[in-house]
Amino acid sequence: MAFPTETVYGLGANALDEVAVHKIFKAKGRPADNPLIVHCYNSLQIASLVKPYSSRVQALMDRFWPGPLSLILPKTSRVPAVVSGGLDTVAVRVPNHPLALQLLQLATIPVAAPSANVSGKPSPTRAEHVWRDLAGKIAAVLDGGSTGWGLESTVIDCTCWPHRLLRPGGVTLEQLQAVTEVAVDPGVYSDIFEKPRSPGMKYQHYAPDARVELVVGDHIQSTVKQLIQEKSKIYKRIGVMAVSEHVHAYLNVSVLDMGSQHDMRAIASSIYHLLRTADELELEYVIVEGLPETEMGMAIMNRLRKAAAYRIIIS
Ligand code: AMP
Ligand code: MG
Repeated sequence: MAFPTETVYGLGANALDEVAVHKIFKAKGRPADNPLIVHCYNSLQIASLVKPYSSRVQALMDRFWPGPLSLILPKTSRVPAVVSGGLDTVAVRVPNHPLALQLLQLATIPVAAPSANVSGKPSPTRAEHVWRDLAGKIAAVLDGGSTGWGLESTVIDCTCWPHRLLRPGGVTLEQLQAVTEVAVDPGVYSDIFEKPRSPGMKYQHYAPDARVELVVGDHIQSTVKQLIQEKSKIYKRIGVMAVSEHVHAYLNVSVLDMGSQHDMRAIASSIYHLLRTADELELEYVIVEGLPETEMGMAIMNRLRKAAAYRIIIS
């Protein structure tokens, strides 16, 4: 069953039941080596799933749970190998959403839950998105309206020191570094690495059907205008994902308003919906305005680079 969390909708199954967890991989078409995050009601429930952890890890739990932070820790034998993609570690978190917490409390079992989308598509931030992707393949979706953050949780690897940020999300690097030492994995910025620490890093994510290109640098608006001119010779249906302050600058294209550049949370919660809207409008080519990489901008740009399959134009 799919359910809302404060990040995106998750597709949940009993994390201790191998057969149930297999069904998640099947419904999503998710590669078997891409491990799932286990959601619990509180840190007490997590104690039997992971080996004893340090006071530094405890400090992260105390500061950020319930909330959008997943911690990778060495797992116990209680967690089936299918959940962790065969790794000896498991990602755990306590979500901060009233429906998710109620569900976890009633279920009394840890729930393995990846994002409730078809693998490779943008993560679902509304119940309709889940249904469009998975109707007929899952039992139900618990409709909690739009999710708050709109981006998946921050993932950090706590099996190494300093801890390592593998996926930026709602809890920012700046917030983490105020509590403990955290280094940034190169996979956050690029897909050029030999062996990813997080299996999910090697798969294409968040991609609509259109060709997406991301424009970064100091002359974004003029470069986007130039691209529109050039590419209109090739594509009939062009879209631009722009901040609200720039939406009137682009003519003869479908402009998708990401939200104000002064409200990065609003932008974070709109980008997956807009990437899906690009598909509904049958856009062939989408130009996305880049954003500053600080705080929430780090997570947003990480997802946009992936949506663009790392086609990045420096202006
Ligand atoms: P999703 O469930 O779709 O939000 O994706 C979960 C992300 O966390 C994927 O990128 C996984 O590869 C990553 N992940 C989950 N468990 C682990 C783990 N034990 N070690 C490394 N990465 C993990
Ligand atoms: Mg996902």
